[in-house]
Formats: sequence, structure tokens, C-alpha cells
Amino acid sequence: MVRMLLVGPPGAGKGTQAVLLSDAFSIPAISTGDIFRANVRDETPLGIEAKGYMDRGEYVPDSLTNALVADRLAQKDCELGFLLDGYPRTLDQVRALDEVLASQGNQLDVVVELTVDPEIVIDRIRGRATEQGRTDDSEDVVRNRLELYARETAPLIEVYGGRGLLVSVDGIGAIDDVTQRIVEELARRGFSA
Ligand code: AMP
Repeated sequence: MVRMLLVGPPGAGKGTQAVLLSDAFSIPAISTGDIFRANVRDETPLGIEAKGYMDRGEYVPDSLTNALVADRLAQKDCELGFLLDGYPRTLDQVRALDEVLASQGNQLDVVVELTVDPEIVIDRIRGRATEQGRTDDSEDVVRNRLELYARETAPLIEVYGGRGLLVSVDGIGAIDDVTQRIVEELARRGFSA
């Protein structure tokens, strides 16, 4: 039982690790990026609204994103924990998440930061653009997303650090090695897979 989130720049491997950790801890992995992409694909009203922001490498407005996550966290499968991947990304989202959890009488247990060298991030994203054809993985858009991360999201690391929730894990290396590092750090904090 753990309520956690993964934070790190685009290309740090959050999505990959989220799936593996979700399995290991038997908790749902909630990726706002995946939810937005599914809505874009299905041309829902949310998808139609989100698409422009995503294609430009901008954040979807907090109002839409916060409402989406509040809905998702109210679902039954989140009662015994969850892993948020790619949310929160702004200080406003941090506040919104705090409120949703507080209204349930809950709070976050741990925040895992995946650290990676920016050069490696760019290489990884180039590979992903070819493999998955993500329309927001073009060179210009990626640069935008990295800048936005540094400006809007990196400050969250300090906030969670100040709360004593932060665990920083080296995101470089084989996928399973990174998962193992995270699992060990979580175990050290009393959360076992
Ligand atoms: P990701 O797959 O997490 O890299 O997300 C892909 C895109 O979805 C981002 O570049 C944003 O446009 C949008 N997105 C995902 N999560 C958020 C969020 N927490 N806040 C705002 N926009 C988001």
C-alpha cells in the first residue's frame, strides 16, 4: 500500500518504470499523458481541447488536468494506493492533489525523482519518436518540453524535498536495474513490493 508519484524530465523513463512498479506494488499507474493521448485518439471533447497544447509541447491547462486526476483518484482501484506518472507538473497541481487527497483523509507517501543527464534524455526521445511516432517528440517540441520542465516542474522537487517525501534515483542504466533501485529505496522507507 503506497501512494506515490514519479517526477523527472521528459525521457527520464517515468512511463516505463510506472508500468513495472504498478505491477510490483499492485497499484494502478495513472499517467496523465497516456490519458490525454487516449482522449486525443478517441477525439473526445477533452482530447480535442488538449491536442493543441500537447502538439506544441505545452502543458494542458491546470483546470482540465486537475479535474481529470481528481476523477481518476476517486475510483475504487485507487483506495489501496496509486502511482501517478507525470502529475503533478505545476505548483497549482501540487495544491490540487493535496486537496483531493486531504478530502479522502489521505496524503502522499513518497515522491520518486528519476534523474538523467539532459543529453541522454534527448537521445532517448529521438529513439522514442521513431519507435512510437509521438507527434510531440519532434526536436523543437522536445526542447520546449525540457524548458517547461525546468521552469514549471523542477521546483516541485524542492517542495517535496522540504516535506521529506523525496527519493532521488539514478535513471540511467538498464530498465530492470533502475526498477530495482527504486524498489530498494522504497523498501528502505517501509514500502515493500
Ligand atoms: P507525458 O506523456 O507525461 O510526457 O505527457 C505528454 C503531454 O501531455 C505533455 O507534454 C503535456 O502536454 C500533457 N500533460 C501530461 N501530463 C500533464 C500534466 N500533469 N499537466 C499538464 N499537461 C500534461
